[in-house]
Amino acid sequence: MKTTLELSLELLIAHAQTCQRCPLHRSRTHLVFGEGNPHADLMFIGEAPGETEDQTGRPFVGKAGQLLTQILAAVGISREEVYITNVVKCRPPGNRVPTKGEMDACWDWLAAQIALVNPLLIVTLGNTPTQKLLGTAEGITQLRGRFFTWKGKIEVFPMFHPSYLLRNPSKKKGSPKYLTWLDIKAVKERLSLLRSRNRKS
Ligand code: URA
Ligand code: URA
Repeated sequence: MKTTLELSLELLIAHAQTCQRCPLHRSRTHLVFGEGNPHADLMFIGEAPGETEDQTGRPFVGKAGQLLTQILAAVGISREEVYITNVVKCRPPGNRVPTKGEMDACWDWLAAQIALVNPLLIVTLGNTPTQKLLGTAEGITQLRGRFFTWKGKIEVFPMFHPSYLLRNPSKKKGSPKYLTWLDIKAVKERLSLLRSRNRKS
């Protein structure tokens, strides 16, 4: 039987499918709401669906998504155990950065997802989700690899976006890929600590 939480998320998705709050609904093939474990301790928030996501209705399934899956696997985290979504749920044409108006229009969906899943730790991927959640204009290079708190309760840890890593393939010391390896190990460790403190799962 489905839990109340699972049913609530399903109702939310069904409601979001009809969303016309911003112009992006006109060009979408599929709305990409998010997917994963409704009881996840760890949530990943990206920017917006790309082409493959728009075609399939699933977040992070294109090249960047495959790299994200590998980064998780490197520290023994499966996609099934986490929850993955984006700041905006419909693809911006040509993969441009979503506008402030689009992000604001979409905000209620993300806020509801965070409230329902209620993770211990949120990883924001790249500038867009990091700046939106933390309410800052500072860049990801300054913010990544540090723990912040959202609304005084959920920890937020910014990391580079996997698309950025695809454009910067060097693995040498200090490179974005190298730093991401340090970051995902920090996520794994922090999650163990938060779990032992919270005994949520
Ligand atoms: N990039 C994102 O930010 N989100 C996706 O879902 C896919 C690529
Ligand atoms: N710009 C982004 O939006 N994300 C990165 O990870 C790097 C640069």
